[in-house]
Amino acid sequence: MRRRKILVPQPRSRFVKIKCPDCGNVQVTFSHASTEVKCHACGRTLVKPRGGKAEILAEIVEYLR
Ligand SMILES: [Zn+2]
Repeated sequence: MRRRKILVPQPRSRFVKIKCPDCGNVQVTFSHASTEVKCHACGRTLVKPRGGKAEILAEIVEYLR
């Protein structure tokens, strides 16, 4: 009988703070985004989905948990 949920740790999927190489805008995104992520300020593509893993096309400032 299950009484509580067990969270499975997923160390490779987390949030990252990224910096747009074009305008320097910093924003937070999921490192395994399944959709394209664009810069909120200038619209440049910062993250491209690639079959489960996302390709980050911006500077990673910080990893968040
Ligand atoms: Zn930008």
